[in-house]
Amino acid sequence: MITAGEVWLVGAGPGDPDLLTRKAEKLIRAASVVFHDALVGPGVLAVALPGTRLVPVGKRAGRHSKDQRSIDALIVEAALAGERVVRLKGGDPAVFGRAMEELVACRAAGVPVHICPGITAASAAVASLGTSLTLRGLARRLTFVTAHTRKGQVLALDWQALADPDATLAVYMGKGAAGEVARGLLGAGLAADTPVALVENASLPEERLFRTRLDLLAIAARTALGDGPALLLIGEAMAPHTLMQTAGLAATA
Ligand code: SAH
Repeated sequence: MITAGEVWLVGAGPGDPDLLTRKAEKLIRAASVVFHDALVGPGVLAVALPGTRLVPVGKRAGRHSKDQRSIDALIVEAALAGERVVRLKGGDPAVFGRAMEELVACRAAGVPVHICPGITAASAAVASLGTSLTLRGLARRLTFVTAHTRKGQVLALDWQALADPDATLAVYMGKGAAGEVARGLLGAGLAADTPVALVENASLPEERLFRTRLDLLAIAARTALGDGPALLLIGEAMAPHTLMQTAGLAATA
């Protein structure tokens, strides 16, 4: 399923190895080398067969790590040397995963490259919250956004477009910018009591769930979250009572 000289960008899912796809598991076990993100934890890496070379190329906010170009070069070199290369990325490789850079680098070098999708953090987070990202009549739109900025840059998001009371907003890499996100959305008219859920380490044993409201988001993110990856989910679908409301809707539909 993976031949010498080939690269697979593989979604590792949110952390729980049981949330790997069967295909991801097969690819990891068939690889001769696995280049993995910092977010890919020991549970997932344990799926690799003994003797597989596991190479961390992780990027974590503020910590020293390989830059994207060196990662591109590493996977291309390994493939050209005849390795069976898995590039293992947290969640889904196509969601804020810098997949495009690696696809382009492989294609430019004539290296065959494929993608195996994974469960993205937002899906794992709502599964843990026991709710839904979309809700009939309440959350008709789902927006994935990243609050990550290059060092020293301000967060330039279209707040007017994002401040939609009928949407669920999933903010990736948003912990450090939680205050800015809240200010931006409040400034664009989203209600102060809009429900917010914070999910840290979704699907892992260290998982933590918090519910708050938009005007308290900054302080909640500062005080409630540790240093694990965390997702901010904003919108009516995150209200604990929506469950009952939707049950009511269903009964009258
Ligand atoms: N490709 C990944 C996202 C990479 S960006 C995916 O599809 O999930 C990294 C961000 O994803 C983190 O800053 C955090 O916001 C989110 N994230 C990844 N894993 C997570 C987890 N287990 N729990 C909560 N958030 C997570």
